[in-house]
Amino acid sequence: MPELPEVETIKQQLTPILPIKIDKVTFSSLTTRMVKQKDFDIKGYTIIKIRRHAKWLIFDLFPHGHILSHLGMSGSWQMSHVPLKNKHGHIEIIDESKKHYGVITYIDPRRFGHFYVLSDENFEIRTQNFSDDVSSPKFDVNVIADLLIRFSHKMIKPFLLDQKAFPGVGNYMASEILARSGILPTRLAGEIDAHEIEKIKAAIDLVVSGAVETKGTTFSGGYRDANGDKGEGVKHLVVFYQHHCQMCMEKGIITKTVKSVIAGRGTFHCPNCQY
Ligand SMILES: [Zn+2]
Repeated sequence: MPELPEVETIKQQLTPILPIKIDKVTFSSLTTRMVKQKDFDIKGYTIIKIRRHAKWLIFDLFPHGHILSHLGMSGSWQMSHVPLKNKHGHIEIIDESKKHYGVITYIDPRRFGHFYVLSDENFEIRTQNFSDDVSSPKFDVNVIADLLIRFSHKMIKPFLLDQKAFPGVGNYMASEILARSGILPTRLAGEIDAHEIEKIKAAIDLVVSGAVETKGTTFSGGYRDANGDKGEGVKHLVVFYQHHCQMCMEKGIITKTVKSVIAGRGTFHCPNCQY
């Protein structure tokens, strides 16, 4: 599933080809469930900026309005010189004035993505509850400490997946953040001390930046970046889908990771590194 680093990668890859004048836009017949709201026809508008909030891509349009795109389980935006003719391509936007990268295509084999075309007014309403995501400098140890105190009864692993609390953290990131913080996934938020909160903050930064540098993380059959390539963030994983803990491995210790299901989600941890 595309998580914050994967969405950030797509944003960074699409940004150099802006602006994109929307001369043609095509929606496949399978987009009825994906296109949640269309306040106006985007033909003739220009995408002037792409931003990211948590796992959302925001396309700012000229002269007004915005596109909100959530990649769901398997979505990506790919750029190309000519139409891709990909059977999973559901939204195609063409800038006819461009010889290079004049086409961007929303590809989503599992079709759990969401797409909104919003007027400025509806965009404000829809995004008013978007708080600073975990990659923001404002999401600091004080914010984390406050969350852990307020929701002290919550188990930390599922709590990290709460998009209102930790916007942008997804399932693989949550396992990795806890591994790098030395915290067992089943610990309660209220039991985590100040020193561990500092470790969580450092781990979030490390997991986000490492995965963005390697253009996202691809698991079997999953995410592709805007060039249609697999991300190589899997190199940075220390426990998630790893047979052995890579942090232990660096110290010359062989420790098998433990896989469990917590609140319905596959979770990995190292019994040697996490308490
Ligand atoms: Zn370990």
